[in-house]
Formats: sequence, C-alpha cells, structure tokens
Amino acid sequence: MSVTGLLLCGGSGSRMGFDKLLAPLGGSNALERSARLLLQGGCERLVAVTAPAAYPCALALSRELPLSLCLGGESRFASAVNGLALCPDGKEDVLVIHDGARCFTPPAVVKRCIDSALSCGSGVAALPISDTVMEKRGDSYAPVDRSGLLRIQTPQAFLAPLIKKAYALSSPLEATDDSTLYLRRIGVPVYVEGDELSRKLTTPADWAWARSLCLVPRTGLGFDTHVLAPGRRLVIGGVEIPFEKGLLAHSDGDVLLHALMDALLGAAALGDIGRHFPDKDPAYLNISSRVLLRQVGRLLEENGFSVAHIDATVIAEAPKLNPYFPQARQNIGADLNIPADRISLKATTTENMNDEGRGLCISAQAVASLQERQ
Ligand code: MG
Repeated sequence: MSVTGLLLCGGSGSRMGFDKLLAPLGGSNALERSARLLLQGGCERLVAVTAPAAYPCALALSRELPLSLCLGGESRFASAVNGLALCPDGKEDVLVIHDGARCFTPPAVVKRCIDSALSCGSGVAALPISDTVMEKRGDSYAPVDRSGLLRIQTPQAFLAPLIKKAYALSSPLEATDDSTLYLRRIGVPVYVEGDELSRKLTTPADWAWARSLCLVPRTGLGFDTHVLAPGRRLVIGGVEIPFEKGLLAHSDGDVLLHALMDALLGAAALGDIGRHFPDKDPAYLNISSRVLLRQVGRLLEENGFSVAHIDATVIAEAPKLNPYFPQARQNIGADLNIPADRISLKATTTENMNDEGRGLCISAQAVASLQERQ
C-alpha cells in the first residue's frame, strides 16, 4: 500500500494575468504550498505535472521533497494522463489528485480523502451550496433546489486501478474533474467534507483573498527622550506648541515622532532612526521630523509593509499636550497615508518625579503594528 499525490500544475493562469502558481505568496508560492500540504495530509510521495514555465520550480522542489515530475498536456485530462503514468497502480495504492491552484487546502481534508479511499475506494472533497441558485429558463429564472447540490473540489483520492481505469475509458472533453470520470465509469464516489480554504485561485479576486491570508502581523516598540532648553521651539507630533522651552536636538527634537519612527522601523526590523538619519549628518540639522516620518513611510511601503495601528504616550509635566493631539494625529496620518482613527496619542505626567516630572526633559513611548504583504 502506498499513497501518492498527483499535483496538477499544468495551467497557465491566463485569467489571472500572471503565473499564479509561481508568483510569491506568503514567503513561498502556490506550487510549493500545494506540494507541502499534500505531504502533510499523508501523501508519501508526489508526482507534479507542470507547464514548461513551472518545471524549473518543481525541479528545485524535487531536491527537497519526495517529488517526481513531468510536463503537462493540452488539457487537464491530458496532464492527468501524463501524471498517472508515473504513479503506482497496485490494487491497494491510493492516488490523491489535487489542483496546484488550491494551495490553502487544510491537510486534514487530504487525510479525510485518503482514509475514505482506503476504506471505500474513493474520497472526493465537496461542499454544499449555501447561496440561492437560479436556473435560466427562457426569458426568466427558476430557483433550483440546492439541498441535493454539491460543489466538487480537490483533493480527490481513489484506489489507483479504479481511477486509472476511469481515465482509460474516458475522452479528454468528457469532464472537468476526476470524480466525474469515476462516477461515469466506475460508480458513485464517496464525497467527504471539503473546506472553503480549498478555493481555487483563478481570478484577481481569488488572488487578493490569498494574499490576505498571508498577511503577517508585526509589532514594534519605540522610545525617545530630549532635554528641555530655553531658546528652542517645542514641536510635538509636527505641531508647534507655545511654551517657554523647547527640545534640544540635531533635528527639530520632535520626541513623539522619533519614538514613533523607531516603533515603525522596529516592527519592520529595518533598524532605527539613528541608522537611517544620523545626527552627525548636516542634512538633518533642524530638519522637520515630519520629513523623516514620510521617508520612513516610503521605506515601509517599499519593503511590503502597511501600518495597521499606532499608539503613543508622551511623558511631560508641562505643557498640557492633549489640545494639540487632534492636529498631531492629522499630521501623522497624512505623512503615513493612514486614517487618523488608526493613530492613538496620549499624554501623562510622572507626578513631579523623575527628570520628566521635574521639567528637565520630555519623553515618548510608541507601539506600532504593521501588516506584512508577502
Ligand atoms: Mg530623538
């Protein structure tokens, strides 16, 4: 007894506008994801049937995984026939046929299909229909009783001799999947519970859904403190605040934006503001920290990050900062191109204790949450 996964990767992805099986997806690609989920679900080895463009990727994967490969044909049927020729055909051998474009299928679904094939000869992933279904009749439509309808997915597992026989007796244009051939040539297959995650990546909307599954949350922490001194402007959150002192710094000393930039860079693991904007560099003398924040925003964008949320606290005995925070939130939102309601700003004192409480300095702490687009 053996369990072989037959991975069909012969499609060109013409409806997507790019090769959906090879495009980066969550630090990997659909082809590799599909191969790994079949192995995780219980396949002992794989046969990948690929289009010429995907062949090098599958070849590289074959050095890491128990995978052999061949080129696909003109149709799904022809590709499956090419792959079946490389699969074992013992009467207890199980073949698990899977579309490479269904790369989020939970391994538990693969296992359900295999278990069903071992006990009943077949196991085909399927789901009921929850939407109302209409059938066009002339110029009108009539509702269809959906209680007996199934959406057929892959994986589809079969005892090898049975599915090979079904293919041998069928013609290329007869069906769009393996279970239909089995139904017509062998008998009614056993349908097991599929999963919405088995969605086939076909359209740009499918691709957007796939990318949303690959967003990785990241969090960063920032802290900064600057000495209060006479003769300096006090700038917090890009707002000039009337006060008898300002913050000493090479730049405008905007302690809030400095803590915030460190939080953003930290979440992206891109270093800190000292690395990106050295305080010895004359280019940054008295520069508005909002200019630097915009540069950090661009850097995040270039590296595939988007800002989900920011929370910051400014620690100052005086002046009162809350009246200036609405404008500061607007500034930060404009510089990072995010809505102000994703930006939380707070102020606190230290009850006349510490250097902040004695009015010697102002400090700020910030936490930033990013999403990584992979
Ligand atoms: Mg600073």
